[in-house]
Amino acid sequence: MKRSYVIKPELEKIYPVISHGKGIYLFDQEGKRYIDGCSGAVTVSIGHAVDEVVEAMYAQAKEVSFAYRSHFSSEAVEELGAKLAEWAPGSLNWTFFVSSGSEATETAQKIAIQYWQERGKPTKNRIISRWMSYHGITMGALSMSGHVLRRKRFVPLLEDYPTISAPYPYRKPDGVSLEDYALQCANELETAILRVGPEQVAAFIAEPVIGASGGAVVPPDGYFQRIREICDKYEVLFIADEVMTGIGRTGKAFGIDHWGVVPDMITLGKGMSSGYTPMAATVVSDEIIETIKNGSGLIMAGHTYSANPQSAAVSLAVLKYVEKHSLFEKAAEQGAYLLERLQELAAELPLIGDARGLGMLCGLEFVKDKDTKEPFPLSHNVSGRVIAKAFEKGLLVYPAVGGLEGIAGDSVIIAPPLTITKAEIDELIGLLKGAVESVQQELRQ
Ligand code: PLP
Repeated sequence: MKRSYVIKPELEKIYPVISHGKGIYLFDQEGKRYIDGCSGAVTVSIGHAVDEVVEAMYAQAKEVSFAYRSHFSSEAVEELGAKLAEWAPGSLNWTFFVSSGSEATETAQKIAIQYWQERGKPTKNRIISRWMSYHGITMGALSMSGHVLRRKRFVPLLEDYPTISAPYPYRKPDGVSLEDYALQCANELETAILRVGPEQVAAFIAEPVIGASGGAVVPPDGYFQRIREICDKYEVLFIADEVMTGIGRTGKAFGIDHWGVVPDMITLGKGMSSGYTPMAATVVSDEIIETIKNGSGLIMAGHTYSANPQSAAVSLAVLKYVEKHSLFEKAAEQGAYLLERLQELAAELPLIGDARGLGMLCGLEFVKDKDTKEPFPLSHNVSGRVIAKAFEKGLLVYPAVGGLEGIAGDSVIIAPPLTITKAEIDELIGLLKGAVESVQQELRQ
């Protein structure tokens, strides 16, 4: 293997060099095959090397790749915006394009603050978010993230936006019904707003299904409905961070659609372009856009690559593929099968405390004691060990450790492309079982 001069997060680690991919599979230069059991970073929703997308990429590049958003619009970007408006709930008809999920959530944060300024309420500039959440790695996005491990080094520079806990059904208090638990958790938002003062709070941000900091934690019914009521009562905007859950991942267009709730903004990334190009977006309601249009008329959030025709054409081709192959429905159907198989594993293997998920976004939580649900100390790096064993066996799974020591177990995300077949899921489960069994064995020694 050649020495790498590229900075990687783990400086000492030698990474295999990727060669190519097809469907749910990736191949490295040594010829080893991997099942992409987590779509990279829960990104490659339509699978690797899809011809239609490659053709759209080439066709756009032959015409023009870059035209600056302040000079031109493009057919691709207009059509992409229209498709998102068609899919988005309520009057979320406007899209601001960016290149990463972090930019999308940070843009939502800025638009929320600007919205209240335009309405003559400049003190409404705080965001409330939840512990056990991840909204991105840039400073503004990290300020909103309740991901302890990722915040840690930067805490003095961050805003303390994570204030309330997220519902965590696996670890709900005994003797409380799920229904009551949903309300209790949602009502924490009301308490937090009243403590800070509604005149200070611009928005509340949450992932419909918790991803990187918890491992596909699905909230109980009633939670987001109550969140919406509280936001309306105190004039707080609700931002649904759908960077991981959006564009069919959970079996509906958007994760929040499972509860029939209409947010004021939705952030997108990852599956929006299936990783074929960096592309992300902040989708915004008519009300917010009208207010800004009638005020300053300018959104102060542009990036060089915002709405570039090349990325728009690629993302549009991905969305057309999703539609043509009914991938929302497929994700729901095959995701139910994936979850069933993961729950079988959980019943069999003592290391797995919980198998959960929605659509094609599933997670496993590892625990020391299945009966008491006692987590391992994070220093045991259980999920890291499972990920390494799975990698050895040719399966990619994604870490989901938010760093809430003693409160949550280590988790991993299993989220293959939405196109995966039942036979391929069986193959994935076989490799995963082998990896978990190996780690179980190591921990017993
Ligand atoms: N929001 C959520 C819910 C995410 O899962 C992520 C990435 O994992 C982000 C935001 C940040 O996206 P990006 O890594 O593209 O900046």
